Amino acid sequence: MHRFSKKKEPWAFSSAGLEHLPYKQRVGGSNPSTPTMILALQSVCEAFLFVNMKSMINGYTELVGLMAYPIRHSHSPAMQNEAFRKAGINCIQLAFEVDNTNLKEAVQSIRALGMRGCNVSMPNKTIVGQYLEKLSPTAQLIGSVNTIVNDNGELTGYCTDGIGYMNSLKDEGIDIKGKKITVVGAGGAATAIQIQAALDGVAAISIFNVKDKFFAAGEETVRKINDNTSCKADIYDLSDYEALRREIADSCLVTNATGLGMKPYEDVTWLPDISYLRPELIVTDTVYVPPITKFLAMAQKVGCRTLNGHSMMLFQGAAAFKLWTGKDMDVEHMKQWLKDNG
Ligand code: NAD
Repeated sequence: MHRFSKKKEPWAFSSAGLEHLPYKQRVGGSNPSTPTMILALQSVCEAFLFVNMKSMINGYTELVGLMAYPIRHSHSPAMQNEAFRKAGINCIQLAFEVDNTNLKEAVQSIRALGMRGCNVSMPNKTIVGQYLEKLSPTAQLIGSVNTIVNDNGELTGYCTDGIGYMNSLKDEGIDIKGKKITVVGAGGAATAIQIQAALDGVAAISIFNVKDKFFAAGEETVRKINDNTSCKADIYDLSDYEALRREIADSCLVTNATGLGMKPYEDVTWLPDISYLRPELIVTDTVYVPPITKFLAMAQKVGCRTLNGHSMMLFQGAAAFKLWTGKDMDVEHMKQWLKDNG
């Protein structure tokens, strides 16, 4: 059994939420005279808890990694560390610059160091599976791993990107089950979204991609979806504008799962013009920096409901957090924290 599954350990972080403290402890007295005083005392308590928690990295602290290259820009370690702190879990996430040249040794170090697990990102997602003992059925089908869990030296690979996307829609009250969607992209994020959507009961998925090295991966995804699920998938060349117009017109949702819209392509989108959109269409983007891509800005002009990749990032992280700790991430707290710090 892993340490996280035990009852509350004496070394576990205390929760930072002052609401969990007895009233007297929160305000430092039994009858505070003014709300201002309460706030001032709360700030002191928060500062005290923060300093204390920072010093709580100790001999029991668990480690999860994030292995990718480049990786220094990632929001994931800050997000996971805040989630661990909020949950009172004595664990930290650190980012490691790992690419295909040192991936095998890096994965071996998860076992050697007894790390709880790891996140994996580009360029390692599609390669890391061969170094693990097991893959979840979804990771197997997607052909990509973004989360590794270490159970006593046995490493299992999971893919939480698609779950993250589907949960981000659910969180917004958007239900695409039984409906048709259009997804532009055939890389790692697109494949995870397409396969998870098919597994979750989406009726039809039209995939568009440019005729680059990813197009064949898109064809493979179509084959996997049609062979393994009741969803009907098709793939088209992104330069086939007639097909793009027709498939979007039939869809309840269209999403961008390419890198267009983020650095260095901030002012670029594959959408020829806004006549392809209609106000009832839901338009989403996997990109979250910038928060409003050119694609989303065009959709907003038409009056479409839009959603960027920020909440996909949050929910894929929440799914990884649950796999490592067995606990639910406090997503409402994290939403506010990301708004303040993201
Ligand atoms: P990837 O390298 O696996 O795939 C890149 C995709 O972009 C391919 O489909 C490729 O054909 C397409 N593409 C590249 N250049 C293009 C061009 N000029 N015109 C049209 N299409 C082009 O990358 P990925 O990991 O799938 O990431 C794709 C996007 O998803 C990135 O913006 C990434 O930041 C985002 N993402 C977001 C999350 C999240 O949690 N929000 C998670 C993973 C990825």
